[in-house]
Amino acid sequence: MASLIKCKACGTEISKNAKICPQCGEPAPKKTSLATWLVLGIFIIGGIGMSNKSSSGSSSVPLTPKEEAQNQVTLEDFNWGTSGFGSVMMADFKIKNDSKYLVKDIEITCKDYAKSGTEIDSNKRVIYDSVEAGKSKKIKKFNMGFIDSQVNQSNCKITDFQI
Ligand SMILES: [Zn+2]
Repeated sequence: MASLIKCKACGTEISKNAKICPQCGEPAPKKTSLATWLVLGIFIIGGIGMSNKSSSGSSSVPLTPKEEAQNQVTLEDFNWGTSGFGSVMMADFKIKNDSKYLVKDIEITCKDYAKSGTEIDSNKRVIYDSVEAGKSKKIKKFNMGFIDSQVNQSNCKITDFQI
C-alpha cells in the first residue's frame, strides 16, 4: 500500500508511521519517497476536482431528504409493450428505493426512439404509489399514454418523486 516505505538498512517494507524498522531497528527514513508524493499529489488534485464539482451545485448546505434520496431511487427493471391499437404504451416497472425514506408520486419520463435511433417521442407519467424505504415495488401494466406507432425502443428513468 501507499503507506509503506522501505527501510534504508535492510530493505524491509515498513509502515510510514513506524519510528523504527521492526526488522533491524534502524530509524525509519523521514524523507517521503517520490512515489508517495506522486500518489499524494494525485489524491490532492483529484480531491480539488471533486470538491469543485460538488460545490457548483449546492455548497455546504445540508441535503434535503429528497436530495439525499435522489440517486437512491432507481428504475431497476422496465418492460413495455403497446395495447389499444398499438399506440398506447403499457409498461411494467420495478422501482427500487435504497433511501431511508418512503417515496411516492414517482415521475417517470421515457424517451422513445424509432428503429433508426432517432428520438421521436417522449412521455411522462406520475405513478401515484409509494415505495417503502429499502424496498422494491413492481408496477404492472402501467399506462404511459399514447406513443408514436414507430417507436421501437424506449428509455425510461425516474425524474422526480416526493418524500
Ligand atoms: Zn530495517
